[in-house]
Amino acid sequence: MVSLKAQFERVLKSAYETTPYFNNLINEISEDEDELNADFFSKLPVFDKGTIRRTGWLNFISGEYLDSDYRLKKGPRARIETTSGTTGTPMKILWNNNDYFSSIINHWKFREKFGITPSSRYCTSLKHVPNGEAYQIEGNKLTFTSMLYSSETVSGILDAINEFKPEWLFIQNSVLFTLLYWGEKVGMRFPESVKYIEYMGEPLSGYYRKYIEKRIYAPSSNMYGCTETNGISYECTYHNNHLLTDNVFVEIVDENGSEIKEGEDGFVCVTGLHNTAMPILRYRLNDIAHIDKTFVCPCGNRNPVITIKAARMPEFLILGDPELCYGWAMYAPANKEIKLIKELPEDIAFNFIMDSLDHYDLYVYKNPNRVENIERIIEDLFIIYGLPNIKFTVHESDEYDPSKMSGILRKIDL
Ligand SMILES: [Zn+2]
Repeated sequence: MVSLKAQFERVLKSAYETTPYFNNLINEISEDEDELNADFFSKLPVFDKGTIRRTGWLNFISGEYLDSDYRLKKGPRARIETTSGTTGTPMKILWNNNDYFSSIINHWKFREKFGITPSSRYCTSLKHVPNGEAYQIEGNKLTFTSMLYSSETVSGILDAINEFKPEWLFIQNSVLFTLLYWGEKVGMRFPESVKYIEYMGEPLSGYYRKYIEKRIYAPSSNMYGCTETNGISYECTYHNNHLLTDNVFVEIVDENGSEIKEGEDGFVCVTGLHNTAMPILRYRLNDIAHIDKTFVCPCGNRNPVITIKAARMPEFLILGDPELCYGWAMYAPANKEIKLIKELPEDIAFNFIMDSLDHYDLYVYKNPNRVENIERIIEDLFIIYGLPNIKFTVHESDEYDPSKMSGILRKIDL
């Protein structure tokens, strides 16, 4: 077992010796190469996606993987993983294959207790399936599109899933919810083969989870992670999210990158303990969270617990359960081409733009009944559906931009 300190030093050394960005940075901070140890690490400034974009991706890549024309060398040693880019443009993350497997093993160790192994059949979703169809099967993976256009698409996907009999699902909770919701309308269900559901990629709504649990009888866990480092935490049976300390080192920092007091909310800042091809050292994510290092969880896991306060918007928002009796429903797929909800003349239609993680700007272009306090209505809906901590500011708008995220707000008669 390699110590945490040794893992740090390995990544730090590779960053210094092989990537232009960290080489420059470390030369500016230190004149002594012997100083390159785990203690030195805390002197590094934080960076984020914007730094990579401004400085240029190649400056973050180890020279060992580039040819003399600064192109990625072809070969079996490395792999490219692409970030989802829901809230921005996707970014390529380069991994050495060995590093990748020593990082991802932390996921398999967790899944093992549900009887899930790397060869288990699973379903996942993507906006665009590579073959351009509604779903694609490659080996033990079935990928379906999250662009659920119509009831035919939903039936087709559910037919394929029933035949495929997945053992587990690796999926956003809103996508699974939406598939089940529309599946029920066409009288279709999920197969009983599912033994485990791993939620990922977006905040977990308590309402969605409960809805899913009533229809798929399998244990589930919320995995919080990013493509840059892989898993950051897994949720235990007591619903606490324990850090994967063998995979990442996590700090909570303020806007300027200074570490803040334990227990207070700030930005999640990760250091990947494995990636030497594209070292991720003090990388600030856009998620807001706090960490409790001393919490004693009844599950027995002594790793610190992270509580995510705000993160990216779920892919789908169908907040229209008449049983919750709030008086309003919101239908807001983050992808524009969703055609499942027919707009009514009285609906309030809007575009929304995420301006920070816990704040959205809403551009209401049609408000036929001059409804006041739209912010409050939506904030309350979010609380009821278990997606708290997000605020909205409403702006009137004469134009509707179909290329942006959009939704409708609908009055429900109680
Ligand atoms: Zn626990």
